[in-house]
Amino acid sequence: MQTTVKSLEGSRQELFIGGQFRAPRSASYLQSFDPTTGKPWYEFAEANAEDVDAAIASATEAFHSTAWRRITPTERGKLVRRLAELVLEHADELALIETRDNGKLIKEMKAQMRAMPDSYSYFAGMADKLQGDTIPVNKLDSLNYSQREALGVVAMITPWNSPLMLLTGTLAPCLAIGNTVVIKPSEHATASTLALAELVVEAGIPAGVVNVVTGTGSVTGEALTRHPGIAKIVFTGSTATGRRIAANAAANLVPCQMELGGKSPHVVFSDVDIERAVNGVVSGVFAAAGQTCVAGSRCFVEESVYGDFLDALIERTRRITVGHPMDEATDIGPLALKSQLEKVEGYVASGVSEGATVAIGGRRPQNGDLGEGWYFEPTVMTDVTNDMSFMRDELFGPVVGVMPFTDEAEMIALANDTEYGLASGIWTRDIDRAMRFANQVDAGTVWINTYRSAAYMSANGGFKNSGYGRRGGFDVMREFSRSKNVLIDYSGAMQDPFVIRLK
Ligand code: NDP
Repeated sequence: MQTTVKSLEGSRQELFIGGQFRAPRSASYLQSFDPTTGKPWYEFAEANAEDVDAAIASATEAFHSTAWRRITPTERGKLVRRLAELVLEHADELALIETRDNGKLIKEMKAQMRAMPDSYSYFAGMADKLQGDTIPVNKLDSLNYSQREALGVVAMITPWNSPLMLLTGTLAPCLAIGNTVVIKPSEHATASTLALAELVVEAGIPAGVVNVVTGTGSVTGEALTRHPGIAKIVFTGSTATGRRIAANAAANLVPCQMELGGKSPHVVFSDVDIERAVNGVVSGVFAAAGQTCVAGSRCFVEESVYGDFLDALIERTRRITVGHPMDEATDIGPLALKSQLEKVEGYVASGVSEGATVAIGGRRPQNGDLGEGWYFEPTVMTDVTNDMSFMRDELFGPVVGVMPFTDEAEMIALANDTEYGLASGIWTRDIDRAMRFANQVDAGTVWINTYRSAAYMSANGGFKNSGYGRRGGFDVMREFSRSKNVLIDYSGAMQDPFVIRLK
């Protein structure tokens, strides 16, 4: 893998099309910024419509090529497994690249990259297990069956918060099935996807099967999602952009898989160990500086324990270390973008003007050691109501609003009073109550006495404005393949087409 943190410094990155790096036909380049300093650190190509055309042509050719089409599913699985080995070999370098690009903690990125190969291997194992059915039919001497086949060229648009991890759950099954892909990473974190594309080729996956077009959403993303040559769009990002992409896709009748925003409820009942629940809430909302789609940013606490819980939460928040993401002792690094920092600040200010109180945090760190980086203190807001703007909109920052509830009916109403439905969590020892919550909450994922413990073996995704389509588990193999029905008549006879026998 030639792309490393060292080689990126001050470099110019090209597009990855047809198995090699190519200068863009647009001749246009953009800057990538380091979130810890706010300064540029490498340049990358901005693909225009012509570049996107070239990437889709390359992916289309690869889709029909003998090298990809005429290998067995078992062989394809082996190639994906080889990619898993290479990702593991380069895991720490990939982690360094992502941390430098998006400011997330090096310890978290290392853990993500080292775990990713298991996910690739899991889907690699499914390559030769995607089967159809034999279906009874009301005819003699007939065989009626269904088979599943690859879709074609899949467009993938990924965000900056966890570029490679969020890509894995869709790229690995797409490759296992035999699709080809064109990926557009976020302009705010492009480098790790380019590095991964190199590993794809090193793994022996034919050139053109994986292509990467870098650039902005408004130029490159638009050209990709409006293109008639794609068979499916996979998108992870904001609900507003998801809506726009779905509209582009509709013009060509292209199906989409949408993993969008969230405003997830995290519920605490009085029968739990407070320290454990506090750790759950803290990791649910402050991990990755709150820049996760499943962040448990609305915390509802049973009234009888509200005061004790709040004291413990504030105390635990006070002990969080905000610092440089490369420092293993840091708990919270900077936000990935300056615009994110300003957005979070704006929402905290609007919360205060709507009557909320900042119990702790609510500002950029004051100690001065963190220079011009885009840091924000972990923030607990009280005196909140569920209709305040920071409780309704996705902030993507380290801010939690905490409010008391009196009974289960009120709690469920509060939890579901949101446009989103991505994830949810509950802390209780009462199994009946936990099961009632699991059945009634409008969320694609429910965590009971844990939070953010995602498993790629199960299908995850959103309800309501959090999106549609599922990732993970065997369901995803159906998402990236299509069913074909084949009916064979082996009677040796074909009746007169104009004679209709009525029953
Ligand atoms: P966006 O939804 O705008 O970006 C996500 C991806 O979509 C990026 O690759 C982006 O490219 C691309 N994109 C943007 N506009 C278009 C378009 N018109 N056509 C095709 N692709 C497009 O999210 P932001 O990065 O702007 O973040 C804004 C908010 O979205 C966050 O504050 C957060 O609330 C939410 N978000 C949610 C994520 C999740 O995991 N569910 C992930 C990221 C953000 P580019 O970045 O180059 O513009």
